[in-house]
Amino acid sequence: MRWTQTLIPTLKESPVEAEILSHKLLLRAGLLRKLAGGIYTFLPLGLRALRKVEQIVREEMDRAGAIEVLMPALQPPEIWQQSGRYETAAEVLYKVRDRSKKEWVLGPTHEEVITLLVAAEINSYRQLPKNFYQIQVKFRDEIRPRFGLMRAREFIMKDAYSFDVNDEASQVNYQKMYDAYTRIFARCGLKTFPVEADTGVIGGKLSHEFMVPAETGENEVVYCEGCGYAANIEKATSGIPNTAAREIGAAVEKFATPGVVTIEALSKAPYSVPANRQIKTLVYIADSKPILILMRGDDQLNETKLMARIGAVAARPATPEECVATLGAKPGSLGAVATALERRSPDRPGGGSHPQRAGQETGAPQIYADERLRGANEMTTGANEDGFHLRNVSIERDIQVTQWFDLRTVTAGEPCAKCAKPLKIRRAIEVGHVFKLGTKYSEKLNATFLDADGARKPSVMGCYGIGITRTLQAIVEQSNDKDGIIWPLSVAPYQVCITPLNVAPDNVGMKLAERYHDELTAQGVEVILDDRDDRPGVKFKDADLVGFPIRISIGEKSLAKGEVELKPRNGALQAVKAENAVEAVMKLLGA
Ligand SMILES: [Zn+2]
Repeated sequence: MRWTQTLIPTLKESPVEAEILSHKLLLRAGLLRKLAGGIYTFLPLGLRALRKVEQIVREEMDRAGAIEVLMPALQPPEIWQQSGRYETAAEVLYKVRDRSKKEWVLGPTHEEVITLLVAAEINSYRQLPKNFYQIQVKFRDEIRPRFGLMRAREFIMKDAYSFDVNDEASQVNYQKMYDAYTRIFARCGLKTFPVEADTGVIGGKLSHEFMVPAETGENEVVYCEGCGYAANIEKATSGIPNTAAREIGAAVEKFATPGVVTIEALSKAPYSVPANRQIKTLVYIADSKPILILMRGDDQLNETKLMARIGAVAARPATPEECVATLGAKPGSLGAVATALERRSPDRPGGGSHPQRAGQETGAPQIYADERLRGANEMTTGANEDGFHLRNVSIERDIQVTQWFDLRTVTAGEPCAKCAKPLKIRRAIEVGHVFKLGTKYSEKLNATFLDADGARKPSVMGCYGIGITRTLQAIVEQSNDKDGIIWPLSVAPYQVCITPLNVAPDNVGMKLAERYHDELTAQGVEVILDDRDDRPGVKFKDADLVGFPIRISIGEKSLAKGEVELKPRNGALQAVKAENAVEAVMKLLGA
């Protein structure tokens, strides 16, 4: 390929739209262009690299026994209603209307389509196991698309779905995919590490994410250097001890705290109640119902954990008005001691002035407490009366906790639950995800089979995703230097860039460049010949910016000595005899 024949619009400056290094480099190296927020065109070099990632994924999926299919992006909303996700995934679903005003959705994922296909086509245990995959475009209605391909509205994923006769067999498929992912990312030249992950809105039992360590990553990962424990912060736990035990004290006592509405204010004089002796009461609206969450004053609630534990599809902090309606006080004075409605009568502050909603009369809201508070005595909490708090609170004596859960966010330095070494936290980019789904979708969408014992059973499913476009950018985020991208050989748009300094058609250097091009191409090497009539500095800079693994420079000075220059992108320049250049390149390529 000749440089002038293709399109490589390199840029000297980073476009302002790019916030992180990999995004800047993809734009500057002329691999990618933005059409609209979160929507990109792949230019020729970007597409070549993308196709290589796809090919590695395809080879490893095939090798792991998965079968390739291609499902439609345009899907009827009825199948999303059937799975129950029309509501739960509503925030990310693109909905379009056709000429008869019928609605369609653009798939962000394909559990529904594949499960219905399997429901229709697979009927016997003899046809299982099956694992279907595709490499296909997905759509997500991102509120804030950013970081280029990292969080896009339209992107390419590999998604796979396994169907098995039972849990044991499903675990075999899960492990095959886990191993395939490990090979895929290694072949892409990407350093990843697997972490335990929350199963989130997609549902399921067990899941791992494959993470690329990166300061710009949108995920936080908790990990232990002692025993190798690693988990997404939305899932991570630690061995931090419960709140120090104190004897059950005197009866609960109300005291005035005018103007005190924060944990911090209460921790200062004249009150001087340390944050770890305070119970923080949060009001959340979970699936449209108010609930109370109790955390230690110095702990932070993890919303993902909350939703997973209580099985809620959506949860958000209540507005001050909703707090008043639920507990009779504003945030800052909330508490769960003999909580809520049974204590509220029209003569209590806030009790009569706010009409109660239907359903609230039937009982107090559920109270979920963080495990760290279990057994805590002598605590202080809000009195549900603006300007007052309660002391001597014994959580198990004075509060009717509905259920105890691990709800807190782990912080760096806490002891590992397994080996007690201090935990660390780092940021990372998620490039792959494996889930054990169980029978959630097969039951809803009737993907059942006749087992050997004649009984009809739902298939046990797993699903496995790799963000192909995101992986491409993660490679760039991980592999670069001040001059530009450093492509791993396996995914480089071209492996070799030949740079003749004189490009006149009859110039001896240009003729040699053409000969190298043809000889290397004949040996299966992907070569680009920089035939631009431009200054050497410009051409070298561009080759480094794009990041071709090997450059061959042909200049008149070297040629006079019968030599050309080889420059590995990631190594030192070396002079080689002109007649040995092809052989030397093949050696560098490991061929
Ligand atoms: Zn550990």
